[in-house]
Amino acid sequence: MRERLAGRLIDAIGADAVRTEPEDLAVYSFDAFSGETLPSAAVLPKDARDVSAIVRIASELGEPIVPRGAGTGLCGGATPARGGIVMSFARMNRILSLDARNRRARVQPGVINLELSKQAEPHGLFFGPDPSSQKISTLGGNVGTNAGGPHALSYGSMTNHVIGLEFVTQNGEVHHTSQDDPGYDLTSALVGSEGTLGIITAIDLKLLRVPPAIRVCVAAFGDVESGSAAVSAIVGAGIVPTALEIMDRTITQAVEAHYHAGFPLDAGAVLLVEIAGEPDDMDASERAIAKIAREHGALSWRSASEAAERDALWASRKGAAGAIGRIAPNYYIQDATVPRTRLPQALHRVDEIARDHHLQVGNVFHAGDGNLHPLLMFDRRESRQVKAVMAAGTEILEACIALGGTISGEHGIGYEKRNALPYVFSADDLATMARVREVFDPKRLFNPDKIFPSGAVCGEVRAQPQAAVGAGAWL
Ligand SMILES: Cc1cc2nc3c(=O)[nH]c(=O)nc-3n(C[C@H](O)[C@H](O)[C@H](O)COP(=O)(O)OP(=O)(O)OC[C@H]3O[C@@H](n4cnc5c(N)ncnc54)[C@H](O)[C@@H]3O)c2cc1C
Repeated sequence: MRERLAGRLIDAIGADAVRTEPEDLAVYSFDAFSGETLPSAAVLPKDARDVSAIVRIASELGEPIVPRGAGTGLCGGATPARGGIVMSFARMNRILSLDARNRRARVQPGVINLELSKQAEPHGLFFGPDPSSQKISTLGGNVGTNAGGPHALSYGSMTNHVIGLEFVTQNGEVHHTSQDDPGYDLTSALVGSEGTLGIITAIDLKLLRVPPAIRVCVAAFGDVESGSAAVSAIVGAGIVPTALEIMDRTITQAVEAHYHAGFPLDAGAVLLVEIAGEPDDMDASERAIAKIAREHGALSWRSASEAAERDALWASRKGAAGAIGRIAPNYYIQDATVPRTRLPQALHRVDEIARDHHLQVGNVFHAGDGNLHPLLMFDRRESRQVKAVMAAGTEILEACIALGGTISGEHGIGYEKRNALPYVFSADDLATMARVREVFDPKRLFNPDKIFPSGAVCGEVRAQPQAAVGAGAWL
């Protein structure tokens, strides 16, 4: 069967674009969450026609297809949970057009997120969504997960920036959607669909004007709770900075050891505030925010208006997960949201849960969005620690739901959280979603075992019990 599949793929797209050796396939077996199953083949299409040919072969032979961007996903979304074909977009990495006058770009899915902003910069433009992985993650993967990032607070996540898509359905047909079209908004249906509805082969995106002035300020607090209360108060006062991010002491110390951006090492938490707009408005905005921060216990305040200083602060913030390598061999990053005003309680619970399970935790999060990212540190060679991490991850999720939040802010559901979906959706909701999927992917070959609870097909979704996150030995 494997030889037959390989032969068909090679005939269709050429031997140079097909990988079948186990040592080559190993790199396509995992993402930044985990993974263990090897695919039968990995393919590297060069255009939509190749994608269509691959999809037709997979459909005929009943082989699953897993689209893959850079594999930085944190929920096992790009892993071949059931084997089959992994489709990498490494060769579909061109910016097809950049229309500066209309502030639009058309890209292939394998374009790296940051590359688009680099190409747009000479036109005074940039691309809004900036996941911390933006130096490596692809725009196709960003569409797949509806990625956010520090600036989602003011610019929104991918769904607010994708204006059209080209995608391939399970019968190999190439379709186009556009938000300019009347009728159902299929573009938005595909954003965040994690490769389960169609394979995206081109993306139309909005570009934004680079603000004339940008300032990044750093406030130090005694603890994350008071920093979070300040964030609620800032937004509650009607001020919406472009970003409001918090790092606790554990994270600040780890990033400072590497980036030396000048964060205060004795603070319990630091708040990063970015404001953008007209140069004349900057001082007044900063004063208003600093005043609220001080009223909520800010111990110090510093502002950076020079690009180099701002870049160093952002590099530290975006490098936070990598810096954990200084503290522990492995980390598990939870992604959950709570209403912004409940952040102090949520963070308090995170701390309690980590302590109960004897785990070290670091918090770095999109405070303005109420999007928590506790990093639980562990050593995967210690099975007791792995179990403790999974249990703590589930408890954190449950605590956030109890506070009025939800199970993912931006990383998606993938393999990791599929059994947590019934926490927030009723059986009827899930059955409706499954019916939508049936329309696009009647054979359920596009990224199976993702999003929907284990064992679920259309009717079975109703029968799913509530279950914990991080099923199996996937760490
Ligand atoms: C250090 C670090 C920091 C991160 N910071 C953030 C952050 O700030 N915000 C955030 O949102 N995420 C963040 N992430 C998570 C991750 O980077 C995002 O989920 C990102 O969108 C994944 O992009 P990727 O190219 O790696 O996609 P992959 O991981 O390869 O795939 C992600 C999903 O998209 C699907 N997919 C990929 N390409 C296509 C396609 N062409 N057609 C259809 N489906 C497709 C895949 O099947 C999968 O389900 C971070 C990850 C790391 C490791």
